[in-house]
Amino acid sequence: MKRQPASDDVEQRGKLYEGKAKIVYATSDPKLIIQYFKDDATAFNALKKGTIVGKGVVNNRMSATLFQRLAKAGVPTHYVATLSEREMLCRRLDIIKIETIVRNVVAGSLAKRTGLEEGTPIRQPIVELYYKSDSLGDPMINDDHVRMMALATPAELAWMKRTALKINAVLRPHMLKHDLILVDFKLEFGRGAGRKLYLGDEISPDTCRLWDRATREKLDKDRFRRDLGGVEDAYQEVYRRLVGDAAGA
Ligand code: UDP
Repeated sequence: MKRQPASDDVEQRGKLYEGKAKIVYATSDPKLIIQYFKDDATAFNALKKGTIVGKGVVNNRMSATLFQRLAKAGVPTHYVATLSEREMLCRRLDIIKIETIVRNVVAGSLAKRTGLEEGTPIRQPIVELYYKSDSLGDPMINDDHVRMMALATPAELAWMKRTALKINAVLRPHMLKHDLILVDFKLEFGRGAGRKLYLGDEISPDTCRLWDRATREKLDKDRFRRDLGGVEDAYQEVYRRLVGDAAGA
């Protein structure tokens, strides 16, 4: 067994970065960081701002549960330990500036780009790449653009796409068991020690589209983006189904 980084003797140090939904802190161990999950929500490249009460707790716990499940399935993730309701100890990664999106059902920007109706099933899951750049509004890119900008090597990109589909193959049936349709989701990968690749960031209703299996009700950030109401209740419902009441205690 490989030795896991210890978590009990790690101390929080200064803020490294504050994003829209999370704050990243350095720790006394240069190989580890702490992700702090906020309740702040933004959409449309931060044009829409708000608060989703309890979101940070849901996203932290749900991400931890899913990262652990993925690790068991052989997907390397940055997750090390849950430190508190809102704090996750993670491996420090050099994040690759690509948002990898996997889709099982047409929704959001894919519906707009193709004219296909939201809800149309996609027979074979697809992977899309977006350039992670707030100033450019995360434009869609392809493998040639990744090579041109040297965002990742061809081998890294191949691994990321393969791993994204593997993650989908693990999460989609798991969520369905809990009566959730995994419509689409966004992943971020990064390089850790020795340039080994890991899954980073979070997996939560902020980064996934999740629909109720029976009613197809949206149980994710689209409730906030589209002013559908019941945003907090949707996050709590996903938490209840995927993490369980016991973990909230
Ligand atoms: N997504 C994300 N961050 C982004 C863009 C998209 O987490 O910056 C997620 C989004 O929640 C959805 C999936 O990626 O689950 C696909 O999003 P889409 O391209 O349809 O864009 P959107 O309609 O959200 O603008």
